[in-house]
Amino acid sequence: MIEIKVAVSNRHVHLCREDVDVLFGENYEFSKRNDLSQKGEFATLDTVSLKTEKAIIENVRVVGPIRKYTQVELSKTDSDILGLDLPIRDSGDFRDAKDVVIIGPKGSRKVKNCCIRSVNHIHASNSELEEFNDKDIVDVKTSDGVIIHNVHIKKSDNFVLEMHIDTDNSKEYNLVTGSSVFLKK
Ligand SMILES: [Zn+2]
Repeated sequence: MIEIKVAVSNRHVHLCREDVDVLFGENYEFSKRNDLSQKGEFATLDTVSLKTEKAIIENVRVVGPIRKYTQVELSKTDSDILGLDLPIRDSGDFRDAKDVVIIGPKGSRKVKNCCIRSVNHIHASNSELEEFNDKDIVDVKTSDGVIIHNVHIKKSDNFVLEMHIDTDNSKEYNLVTGSSVFLKK
């Protein structure tokens, strides 16, 4: 068994340059609150609000750096609050993704096709998890012996071995950041 540490992802937003300019002002640069474990990724000091016809969620953390596309990652609970029926997707897969109005300190804009629920996934560098390939789909077991199905493996030299799971799934499987799950070789 390979032990993998878990990191729970709260709702968050990745933004493209164009949306940053509208929401925060032209050429705005994020300031770092803290590094995240994946190399180059950081929680910023900046937040936005997300608005639909049904509700608004405030203080949603922006994760840097700026990306090529804007992506909003929400839990099932969040999507129910906003009245959005979100698909469960890999990062960057926007099939059936939903629209939301993103409100920043300097402006707001309706961003089309940006909201997803992130699939449970494991990051690994290319030298880790040698028995597995990028895009493999696996089961992992928690310390309680519960099996989590349909976990997607993402390999890249920039990645560090870690499983990402959203707040709803962390509750369902009794996991917190720092918990371990186990992958059969
Ligand atoms: Zn991740």
